[in-house]
Amino acid sequence: MVNVNIAGALADLYTLQEHDQELDRIKEQQEQLPPELVEAREKWAALSEQLAQLKERYLALQREYQQNDLEIKDLVAKRKQAEDEQLQSSSIREQTQYENRIQQLSTRIDELTELTMPILEEMERLAEQIKELELQASELKPELDSLEAANAERVAALEEEYQAKLVKRQEMAGSIPASLLREYETIRRARRGVGVARVKVQGGFYLCEACSVQLPTHVAQRVYQSQQVVRCPGCGRLLWRGPENEG
Ligand SMILES: [Zn+2]
Repeated sequence: MVNVNIAGALADLYTLQEHDQELDRIKEQQEQLPPELVEAREKWAALSEQLAQLKERYLALQREYQQNDLEIKDLVAKRKQAEDEQLQSSSIREQTQYENRIQQLSTRIDELTELTMPILEEMERLAEQIKELELQASELKPELDSLEAANAERVAALEEEYQAKLVKRQEMAGSIPASLLREYETIRRARRGVGVARVKVQGGFYLCEACSVQLPTHVAQRVYQSQQVVRCPGCGRLLWRGPENEG
């Protein structure tokens, strides 16, 4: 009786494994993004990054420009004051002092104005580039959104399929002895999704289907006798004698 139970449980386990692998495939499919979506996401990320950099540069120039502008206004006011005071002054010495001061202020104003021009020009260029990229972004956005929506739908459909298969899986697992099921699940996690392997007969030798190691005769015998659960000496997976070898 033990004999039949172990062989039967391993056969059920093997069927369960095929089902589990199907579940794994669905999860993999969910992760596999359509190439057009990957491309659109990459484009979007590149555009956003470029835009952020240009805007940051623009703001820095704007701050520089405003600072220069404030300084120029301040210097112009000071020059105006010096000119007014010069008009009211009667002493030659003071006149000369004002004259020098006005000259210094004018020189500084000219210098700053000259520095400001290229800043304004670069700001204009940047504004053009920003506008152009924003246009590209606004054209890409609907395409990206629709690709995202289609992908979300695809993933949701797979999820529905997955959940339905998961319910079936729980039913199937219910008929397998709990300790054997736990052992299988532990091995499967550690061994790339394969916890139970069939024995393959090839050229008179017995091989583990999963790792292809040749099984010593006494191990193969124990698998065929099915009086206990036997693990592959090569990979540690549970061994099942397989349907074609039954009887
Ligand atoms: Zn093996």
